[in-house]
Amino acid sequence: LSDRGAGAPPRVLALANQKGGVGKTTTAINLGTALAAIGESVLVVDLDPQGNASTGLGIDRRARNLSTYDVLVGEATLRETVMETGVPALHVAPATLDLSGVELEIASARDRAFRLRAALEALAADTTGPSYSYVLIDCPPSLSLLTVNAMAAADAILVPLQCEFFALEGLSQLLKTVEQVRTGLNPNLTIHGIVLTMYDARNNLSDQVVQDVRQFMGDKVYETVIPRNVRVSEAPSYGKPVLLYDLKCVGSQAYLRLASEVIQRERAARAQAAA
Ligand code: ADP
Ligand code: MG
Repeated sequence: LSDRGAGAPPRVLALANQKGGVGKTTTAINLGTALAAIGESVLVVDLDPQGNASTGLGIDRRARNLSTYDVLVGEATLRETVMETGVPALHVAPATLDLSGVELEIASARDRAFRLRAALEALAADTTGPSYSYVLIDCPPSLSLLTVNAMAAADAILVPLQCEFFALEGLSQLLKTVEQVRTGLNPNLTIHGIVLTMYDARNNLSDQVVQDVRQFMGDKVYETVIPRNVRVSEAPSYGKPVLLYDLKCVGSQAYLRLASEVIQRERAARAQAAA
């Protein structure tokens, strides 16, 4: 069982990187599953109009009656959108393509950056359904209003970085946005950590990238590195997290290690806050 007090609000982590294809969605699905597997209760909020986190968690597009779009335009509560997945203790607030138009719809609203935050606060206050110890927000590949909503709602950002030559490119832009959100919208926002993804042991470049990123970002980088693993990329087409598709594969094992590291960091942060 989690060691949070009963009724404590969830830890809200946003998976953000304005680059596409770096492993945000894969990490939302599989870190979420791994956290649930080790006793946490998890809500994945799909904030990408592509809706891949919802699909990867087995939610058929036709079954998405209410979505994060409805939440952001104020026509549904998060609770109303939440769906069960094949993973016990892991729920998802699904996304649909409607979400791609939401920015224009809410652009002139004064509270446009706080829509998700308000929805999560309402969810935490609502005792009529399950409560969550972790909320993972899967962001779109941009620094748009959707990502800003995620950052304004989050306690911390988790940044997936792909082990490729240009890994660090774009990171300073991302960190700048985090700084702006901290100044203007969410003073408590922190960087939870950076997770290196799609590491390829056969490729010398991967090691070089790991070294460079560790040198640049120090202990913000999780010890766990997620290997490139074909099982990880196959799993979504079965609508399953890789942990349900093949628990023994190196990808599943890496996501389990990442989940324990995330929990360790949370404990350390809480101990520090209490001291
Ligand atoms: P993002 O959400 O940042 O756009 P995704 O999580 O969708 O990135 O990942 C991009 C692609 O890379 C997907 O096809 C996914 O299946 C694949 N992928 C992600 N992580 C791994 C991994 N560890 N091993 C193999 N393929 C991966
Ligand atoms: Mg994605």
